[in-house]
Amino acid sequence: MFLHIDIDSFFVSAERSVDPGLKNIHMAVGGRSNLEIFNKKRIHIKLMNDNSGAFVAPVFYSDRQKSFRSVFVEKVGDREKIRGIVTTSSYEARACGVKTAMPIAQALQICPKLVVVASNYPLYHRLSHQIHQFIQMRIPSLEQYSIDEFFGDVSGWIAEEDVYVFALQLQQEILERFDIPVSIGISKAKWIAKLATEFAKPFGVYRVKDIDAFIEDIPIEKFPGIGRGFQKRLESYSIHKLGDIKRRKTLFYSWKKPGIELYHRVTGSDNEAISRRSERKSIGISRTFDPITDADEVKRRVMIMARHIVYMVMAIEVNPTRYYLKINYEYGLREKQTRTIDRIFSEALFKSELSEMYNAVFHPDRGAVKLSLNVSNFTSNHPKTLSFLELDSDMKQERLTKHLQDLRGRFGLDIIKTGSEL
Ligand SMILES: [Mg+2]
Repeated sequence: MFLHIDIDSFFVSAERSVDPGLKNIHMAVGGRSNLEIFNKKRIHIKLMNDNSGAFVAPVFYSDRQKSFRSVFVEKVGDREKIRGIVTTSSYEARACGVKTAMPIAQALQICPKLVVVASNYPLYHRLSHQIHQFIQMRIPSLEQYSIDEFFGDVSGWIAEEDVYVFALQLQQEILERFDIPVSIGISKAKWIAKLATEFAKPFGVYRVKDIDAFIEDIPIEKFPGIGRGFQKRLESYSIHKLGDIKRRKTLFYSWKKPGIELYHRVTGSDNEAISRRSERKSIGISRTFDPITDADEVKRRVMIMARHIVYMVMAIEVNPTRYYLKINYEYGLREKQTRTIDRIFSEALFKSELSEMYNAVFHPDRGAVKLSLNVSNFTSNHPKTLSFLELDSDMKQERLTKHLQDLRGRFGLDIIKTGSEL
């Protein structure tokens, strides 16, 4: 039997657990695109690297200001503008029409009594980690699926007829211990358990006994992994309900692996197990800003983001061999480049490759509005032989990067920059 445990409106619940005054009110957690890393005058940045698992972005800033005004209100000329978007909203606010990704200004318009607090990621990651450890003691076969979701397999651990009561107790224990509400879905198939959780929310436990009957009338877009694009495609085949999928086995099999996988997940016949180590597969960072045409400034930003990636790579001790850079321009244009570099990762190597990639994708006549950097294909996941041609110098660079890592860990990420960033 699988349990899918999902924290109810996680960021909101986390804020409420440290400030009970936020309970039972219309509230939301809001966020802003963090452009602070490009600030040349930035000082006093301390890193918090609590290394609490696969979903941690290991770089946090402790100079975050808490008040609504300082985070979300910006002076534009002589007027004030509310910036930012809703990250999570309370059930009270949702009843008012407030939704995730809605601009905060709009949310306040439709729900004037809404209280918006700035997101506090260190708190969320700490809680996520503590709750993970707590559930792990109750369910040894556990997978952390996202920052606020867990799959547990209790087969051979809890008798089938006791699973429902076990889930109720676990839910109660998490509430008492952390003051955090969770919902739990139960099924003999992993993805059906996840789907069931949607019917348990908020603060419920839902057990699926008959998978066929359960899925029959559920709209396809409710199923994890069916996005807008795929939904449209399925609808063009008159597939609207999960029950329709079950009746179109031949069609799904004609779509090869992704189709076959989805078919079995939807029908609960996938036999997928808990994946014990939800390893991180890539490290990425992206920033959106007002259009920039100055080549030096765009490159400076690429290099700053590169330094943050280097820090994360070193913090979780992986060796990425695939580098990715994308620049989005105004009017929806974009350029990207990917390189496979089978060498020992170091800051110097990464920045020199990026520099060449940058030259290939930057267009001075267009305004750059977004940068995305990503590294993946860690050697631990994709065993391969690293190039020995540059081995000596690569190892030297690696030692240097480790040394920088040590200094940055102690004194902050801004303590050492390279020439290309200044
Ligand atoms: Mg959740």
